[in-house]
Amino acid sequence: MFTSSLLLVTFFSTLAHALPEQSLVPGGIALLGLPDYQPETVVRFDGKRVAVFPYEDSWFAIAGIPLNAKPGDHHFSIEHHNGITLKTRIKVLEKKYAEQHLTIKNKRKVNPNEKDLKRIALERPRKRKAKSTRTDAVPDVDFIWPVSGRISSIFGLRRFFNEQERRPHNGLDIAAAEGTPVKATAKGTVIEAGEFFFSGNMIFIDHGQGIISLYAHLSRIDVKPGDSVDTGDIIGTVGQTGRVTGAHLHFAVIANQTLIDPINMLPKNQPSAELNQ
Ligand SMILES: [Zn+2]
Repeated sequence: MFTSSLLLVTFFSTLAHALPEQSLVPGGIALLGLPDYQPETVVRFDGKRVAVFPYEDSWFAIAGIPLNAKPGDHHFSIEHHNGITLKTRIKVLEKKYAEQHLTIKNKRKVNPNEKDLKRIALERPRKRKAKSTRTDAVPDVDFIWPVSGRISSIFGLRRFFNEQERRPHNGLDIAAAEGTPVKATAKGTVIEAGEFFFSGNMIFIDHGQGIISLYAHLSRIDVKPGDSVDTGDIIGTVGQTGRVTGAHLHFAVIANQTLIDPINMLPKNQPSAELNQ
């Protein structure tokens, strides 16, 4: 059965920055208040299990909306312990993302050779495994900026490298000098860390229930899989490894195995770059 969509949380933007901001567009996030939440309750969005977190006296589900989601109706299902399943729908609005044209000097990073392709094929399952990690821990969604700096590329841009179209930009690029410390955006456990063909030195941190952050193009990695990190712990340094045009942090966020716009998870204002050093 369908409940009214009044359950949807529409007042988030006026609350403290500690909460993610709802954005009902492809690449955005949907939030759902769960007044009858019990620990056994399972919440799904378009069939995929989503994370549930407490805030003040209630519980909320957070769902990543895929960048390729069609505008129109999408559904949450709330499966209660007693066998009752409630469904509620949200309307995803259309969003047109701009194009970005970049020139990459190392042409192999745009058109990999046969050896590179073999390496990329080996890396793919490692990335997929990290992206689909789900642990039971109550997720920490109170994110901080991993570095301060100019936003050099926003999420969702349709990308052309050396005039060849590639996948859209799936994270947020923050420009910073090589060697700038990178902080864990929230508490969690390192689930993958290593060097990848396109992403360079990269770290994945699991924050619980499928909320995962990712840090790419690092010059140095200071953590290893299995390490526990607290919000703000230094996990590595900004670099320009992998497919880049200069030193920056590529910061990405995954929820229900979906890459989402990190800007909706971060506080409105960055701490100043001076405070960061
Ligand atoms: Zn990027």
